[in-house]
Amino acid sequence: MNEMYLKFLSRSENEVFARNVVAAFALPLSPTLSELDDVRTAVSEAVTNCIVHGYRGGEGWIELVCRTEGDLLHIEIADSGRGIADVEQALQPFYTTLPDEERSGMGFTIMQTFMTDFSVTSEAGRGTTVRMSKRLGAKAADDAR
Ligand code: ATP
Ligand code: MG
Repeated sequence: MNEMYLKFLSRSENEVFARNVVAAFALPLSPTLSELDDVRTAVSEAVTNCIVHGYRGGEGWIELVCRTEGDLLHIEIADSGRGIADVEQALQPFYTTLPDEERSGMGFTIMQTFMTDFSVTSEAGRGTTVRMSKRLGAKAADDAR
């Protein structure tokens, strides 16, 4: 078991920062390159959502927790921004509240596809937390065969 916690500002450059931090933390589990890409992409989508939806481009804190348990990587990404009134609706593919800004409404769908487990909790006006996990490394690759 290993764990880390990181708090960073909702600035666009921190999307790259966060996804690389998570990838570095996951390295001891010997992930394949494709697993690592999946994790990076899912983290990018979650952090981008905090920045563009949670804080609408304003400044706020994003909190990241990573935990490993055996070959499982758990990730939690949370903002204290606007929150989501209807989570079930937000999870629908192509659903977006910012259609004018080249958003396709696929972020949550991508996270669900690339990670093994995925869930969102949110409260309007209080913030949003995304939890996701993925089995990494040789054993996960074997199981997928
Ligand atoms: P894309 O991710 O394809 O650029 P998108 O961000 O709109 O588009 P999703 O990531 O699937 O699509 O999110 C769907 C919707 O859920 C968003 O349009 C937004 O309304 C809401 N949402 C997602 N994350 C948050 C968040 N952290 N805070 C507030 N609302 C959010
Ligand atoms: Mg998104």
